[in-house]
Amino acid sequence: MQKPLRIVLTGAPGCGKGTQARILRDRIGICHLSTGEMLRAYALKDTPLGRELKASLERGEFATDEMIVDMVSSRIDEEDCQNGFILDGFPRTLPQAEALEDIVKQKNISLDAAIEIQVPDEIIMERILGRYTCAVCGEGYHDKNRKPKIYGVCDKCGATEFVRRADDNRQTVKNRLINYRQLTYPTISYFERLGLLHCVDGTGSIEATAKKIADILGLAK
Ligand code: AMP
Repeated sequence: MQKPLRIVLTGAPGCGKGTQARILRDRIGICHLSTGEMLRAYALKDTPLGRELKASLERGEFATDEMIVDMVSSRIDEEDCQNGFILDGFPRTLPQAEALEDIVKQKNISLDAAIEIQVPDEIIMERILGRYTCAVCGEGYHDKNRKPKIYGVCDKCGATEFVRRADDNRQTVKNRLINYRQLTYPTISYFERLGLLHCVDGTGSIEATAKKIADILGLAK
């Protein structure tokens, strides 16, 4: 059995973290932990916390560090994370990055790499505003760059219902980019100081970026 791999995927919203995390998960069989997906699941619940999260996600505001750190810390204790995990969207603030360092120390494990996927803002806006997913299997599509082979039918599972994220609109994306610059960007130099940082150009095709990430992680062809 191969050694567990524990990876942080970071970068601006829409840089392709989720897509690349799913590719890695399918390729090496480790858990994909997306804090955004976890929060969206909470936000579906008709509870005070669910309603509060729904409203802040729609505005592109961050959830509290305390909530996110607790959520991630207990999630990585679960059985499916024992073989490794890919953190997608966490840490998003410096306090979260510091908490992650403490969490891994306490659990007596270590991180193998933090990979920043770099994409300029103009491309990000176009990518986010055009993206949508199959409502059944979650396969990702784009109005211009990746249409289903048959109009209105998911290539992967044949479903005909598709969804767009409520926070994928121009104003919310602007807020998410501002938050990224102010709050998340400092975590990149934090990972650099820990000697874990690798940067990849994410402007090419999904396959090209996946290959760069696989090379960084030393994954066999
Ligand atoms: P994502 O799916 O990673 O784009 O995340 C969607 C939204 O969830 C973000 O715009 C934030 O509002 C929230 N979110 C996701 N991860 C975090 C985090 N680590 N800390 C705070 N808020 C988060």
